[in-house]
Amino acid sequence: MRFASLGSGSRGNGTVISHHDTHVLLDCGFGYRDAVTRLARLGLEPDALAAIVVTHEHSDHWGGVAALASKHDLPVYASRGTWIEVRGHNLSHAVEMRGAFQVGDISVQPVTVPHDAREPVQCVFESDGQRLGVLSDLGSVSQAVVAAFKELDALSVEFNHDREMLWAGPYPEFLKTRVGGDYGHLNNGQAAQLVQAVQDPRLHTVVACHVSETNNTPELVRDALDQALNGSTIERIVASQADGLDWMNVGQQ
Ligand SMILES: [Zn+2]
Ligand SMILES: [Zn+2]
Repeated sequence: MRFASLGSGSRGNGTVISHHDTHVLLDCGFGYRDAVTRLARLGLEPDALAAIVVTHEHSDHWGGVAALASKHDLPVYASRGTWIEVRGHNLSHAVEMRGAFQVGDISVQPVTVPHDAREPVQCVFESDGQRLGVLSDLGSVSQAVVAAFKELDALSVEFNHDREMLWAGPYPEFLKTRVGGDYGHLNNGQAAQLVQAVQDPRLHTVVACHVSETNNTPELVRDALDQALNGSTIERIVASQADGLDWMNVGQQ
C-alpha cells in the first residue's frame, strides 16, 4: 500500500491511498480542473479512482467532491451527518458509512473525531496487514483516536498551528477561539503528543499535514516532530498546500 497527497491545508485537501489497482481518494477540496491536474502529477486519471471517502463537510475537504464524483461516476462514502450537511448534492452513488468497509483491496475504518462538523471522521486504511492512519482535522486528542491509530506503519497527522503564532496572528478573535479550541485544529504541541502516544516499533513514517500557512512554519513543525520522535529513525515529512506529498510506501521496504 502507498499514499500521496494532492495538497494539504485550509485551501484544499486530498489524499490518495493505493494498493495494487485500487485507488481511493480521501477528501477533495480542489475544484475539478485543479483536482485533475493534481491527480495527473501523481500519475492518476480520475477514472482510475475506485471511490471517494469524505471525512466531513468543510469545503477544504468536500468542495470538489460532487463535481469529480458526478463527472466520473464515482461512489462517495460519508457519514450520515456529513450527508445531511451536503444534502443539496444529489450524487448517484452516495454511500452512508457505518463502521468499517472495503473498497477493492483496501479496508477503511472510519473513526469519530472531535471537530466542529456535523459527524466528522478520520480514517485508518489497511491492506495486506499494512496500516496507514490519516488524521487531518481534529481539535483535541480523544482516547478513541489514540486507541484506533495504534499499530500503524505510517501516519499522516495534522500539525495545524503554533499556539503563540495563532494568538499573536491576524485571525479575528472568533476564529482564533475556533481554531485553537477542542473542536478546531491541533497545534504543534498537541500533534507531537499524539505522535508519541501512538508511536510503536512498527511506525516508520510520519507526515505532518494541514499545516497553516498563516499560523505555522515548516521549521516549527519539523522542530515539534523532532522533539516527539527524538532519537528514532522514523522518517518525517511536511506536506504542503501547493505540492502535497509525493508517493510514500506504507509497507516496510
Ligand atoms: Zn480541513
Ligand atoms: Zn474541518
